[in-house]
Amino acid sequence: MATNGEAGRHQEVGHKSLLQSDALYQYILETSVYPREPEAMKELREITANHPWNIMTTSADEGQFLNMLLKLINAKNTMEIGVYTGYSLLATALALPHDGKILAMDINRENYEIEFKEGPALPVLDQMIQDGKYQGSYDFIFVDADKDNYLNYHKRLIDLVKVGGLIGYDNTLWNGSVVAPADAPLRKYVRYYRDFVLELNKELAADPRIEICQLPVGDGITLCRRVY
Ligand code: SAH
Ligand code: CA
Repeated sequence: MATNGEAGRHQEVGHKSLLQSDALYQYILETSVYPREPEAMKELREITANHPWNIMTTSADEGQFLNMLLKLINAKNTMEIGVYTGYSLLATALALPHDGKILAMDINRENYEIEFKEGPALPVLDQMIQDGKYQGSYDFIFVDADKDNYLNYHKRLIDLVKVGGLIGYDNTLWNGSVVAPADAPLRKYVRYYRDFVLELNKELAADPRIEICQLPVGDGITLCRRVY
């Protein structure tokens, strides 16, 4: 995968994946992911590759995973916090039945023909909880926005997701930095968000309302199944 020069100067993994080598990751992409990637996702991925913040995009293997997961759980009503150019959103949309729904939130609106709330997600969630009609209504919620708010999202999303439904928190291995020594030369934003990711991982592991599964896909995704 392309990396920027800065990543090379620091002791972080060059590929976005947490696998042991770029070659192994390329093998997965070329053998199992790209040949089955829907045309629309391929196009979006290629356009996004030229965008200045392309480091934020969901990787193709994670997109494939999300698409399969949503089909397995028969998801119909979904939410996504953190859209960027929409790769994970498209992976979601293509997995839903015709009457499926996605509520998307981002502080930047690109161009989507879906229910979209432009602006910070927290006040939107607060409003939904106040309304009282969204409790326990989501089959799947993908959280991929500001990592320093994940615990604030969790407090609210646990009410909005169905019992038996899933919340997926993305980037929970945070470029591998969760195990970096205290004095490791991390990029500024990696260092800043790392403490929030560490805190989130601890809290999720201790939360009795959910069952969790931490997957080393993409930059790490933690699936949380609401049990009550
Ligand atoms: N899931 C996307 C990647 C999201 S990148 C993909 O597959 O491409 C993170 C996104 O979170 C950015 O688009 C950013 O604008 C958005 N974001 C940051 N802070 C936010 C906030 N407070 N509320 C909602 N979205 C936010
Ligand atoms: Ca992400």
